[in-house]
Amino acid sequence: MSLNLAHFVIQVLKQKKLANVPSLGFGALFSPGGEISPGPQIIQRDPHRCHNCGAYANLYCKILLGSGQWQCVICQKLNGSEGEYVAPSKEELRNLPELSSPIIDYIQIGNKRPGFIPVSDSRMSAPTVLVIDECLDETHLQHLQSSLHAFVDSLPPTARIGIILYGRTVSVYDFSEELMASADVLPGDKSPTRESLKALIYGTGVYLSPMHASKEVAHKIFSSLRPFGLNIAESSRDRCLGTAVEVALAIIQGPSAEMSRGIIKRAGGNSRIIACAGGPNTYGPGSVPHSFSHPNYPHMEKTALKWMENLGREAHRHNTVVDILCAGTCPVRIPVLQPLAKASGGVLVLHDDFGEAFGVNLQRAASRASRFHGLLEIRCSDDILITQVVGPGEEAHVDTHETFKNNNALCIQMLSVEETQSFALSMETKEDIKSDCVFFQFAVRYANVYQADISRVVTVRLPTVDSVSAYLESVQDEVAAILMAKRTLLRAKNHSDVMDMRGTIDERIKDIALKFGSLVPKSKLHQFPKELSALSELLFHLRRGPLLGSIVGHEDERSVLRNLFLNASSDLSLRMVAPRCLMHREGGTFEELPAYDLAMQSDTAVVLDHGTDVFIWLVSDLTFCDSLKLQVIEFSILYVYCPGISHELWVYLLSLSLHGLVITFVYS
Ligand SMILES: [Zn+2]
Repeated sequence: MSLNLAHFVIQVLKQKKLANVPSLGFGALFSPGGEISPGPQIIQRDPHRCHNCGAYANLYCKILLGSGQWQCVICQKLNGSEGEYVAPSKEELRNLPELSSPIIDYIQIGNKRPGFIPVSDSRMSAPTVLVIDECLDETHLQHLQSSLHAFVDSLPPTARIGIILYGRTVSVYDFSEELMASADVLPGDKSPTRESLKALIYGTGVYLSPMHASKEVAHKIFSSLRPFGLNIAESSRDRCLGTAVEVALAIIQGPSAEMSRGIIKRAGGNSRIIACAGGPNTYGPGSVPHSFSHPNYPHMEKTALKWMENLGREAHRHNTVVDILCAGTCPVRIPVLQPLAKASGGVLVLHDDFGEAFGVNLQRAASRASRFHGLLEIRCSDDILITQVVGPGEEAHVDTHETFKNNNALCIQMLSVEETQSFALSMETKEDIKSDCVFFQFAVRYANVYQADISRVVTVRLPTVDSVSAYLESVQDEVAAILMAKRTLLRAKNHSDVMDMRGTIDERIKDIALKFGSLVPKSKLHQFPKELSALSELLFHLRRGPLLGSIVGHEDERSVLRNLFLNASSDLSLRMVAPRCLMHREGGTFEELPAYDLAMQSDTAVVLDHGTDVFIWLVSDLTFCDSLKLQVIEFSILYVYCPGISHELWVYLLSLSLHGLVITFVYS
């Protein structure tokens, strides 16, 4: 599977009626930020674009060698190339990357935008502010403290951080105080006033500091944290997470917020706020009552949700991503916190505790290379209609009519551009296709951490076929299963929806058999098409796995998984749909098994890797249970200790840890 673009089918069916059968359908997965190998061809000049529709010149264009004109593959109009494509022969033109490679990165280093403020060292200029829950019990706090100490040690010397604590008040730690941890305190019951923020920002305190100057102070601050002192149940403690994030945003903007009002300020890369939460937001703006039985709860929840979403949007306007890492036993009320993370382009992850997995995710959150100002344009041949897009963005209405007369591109604004994302596109054909191929062109624009504007253009040509069996043969089962799963999960918002969706999957399988399968001799039953047998197995796993099945119990967990899945890259998505099954033998080797063969033997342990969760079945008479348990935990942090398992697998497991790798032990 290509990391960048994966099509549902390799050949598109010409007949509209069968191509559009909803139970099968077709489409594509596109990962805008995915790394590709070998790297893309790079061009440092403006691209040639079709004056009519805005499509980019590409390797499939017909070129008139004498005049250098090129014909657009999307709208068929002829365009000039300012003489650049004039050549004695076609072979000469192969030296031009855009006419020989399907993936091109156009890079513009200069910046022509008005109001642009250059930043001398862009990597220095994007700070991370930790927003930490101060209502934790002793054990949770101890775990969190060791995760925080390790976090600070993992940061590069140029990384700037800020530290904020919240409970009933918001404490902003001052790095200028080197002998002891000291903080300025603001009330948590209401949004900070302009005066109080001004006093803070223009005061003598240093609230964001590079690690080379303040690492020791940061350690002192973390060591000084104390457990929650009062005798109040975890869920009834006052936590002003909303106010704390507002204060963090103000600190990130700093005095320049005043100076640059009205113009777009582009700091280098995304700033990040990482909230470490052990409970729900129950105090101040965006809060919900402690108890669900509060008479006004539904209304207050709705107001809180809206407020959180607005705060997320505000953060996004200031190039700040808010990640929320939750842990502990107290329900954090996901529906209220999720909009804050989502609207800012961040993620929300649940953990069992503030221990190792939390610590690894904290480090990964800070080191993620977010690119920003992302815009995805999709163009395709006239015969194709994009009916649905599922992924980390929203439809944008970009007015380009001055530049291109008939720009019919589908534009999607992305909140942040990251490696782990992908878009799932569902498509239909508008009528029976006459031509022998169709074209798709994806162009994603973003600014990278070094301020350069990148446009990555990916062009694809898919042949069309008449034969249904050739069409079915060309279905890529894994891509098909992911697309179907994303379409289905989009509708599985709560528990009863989940039950309905399991039924939908069954119906889908029956319908595919009916429309594409052959009749079983001497019966009215239809056989599921053998070309799609891998698809049926994947859908079977989807029905039983964490997304729709009963492996994951709590509604909060399911909601977090669902959100991750809808935006996840193809590799992670696939693992979340269908597990990878490994058998552990005594002596330390792992062997991959077909996932349907979950038979357990008395002398082996079975490891089921479900993308975000790893389940380990241990037979009770296994003498090496404890050592295996220890091994798996260690290896998931440091794969190098495991000689028997492939390097790739543990790197892969590590790469998932941002999504809160959960290891569950099941004893039989
Ligand atoms: Zn065109």
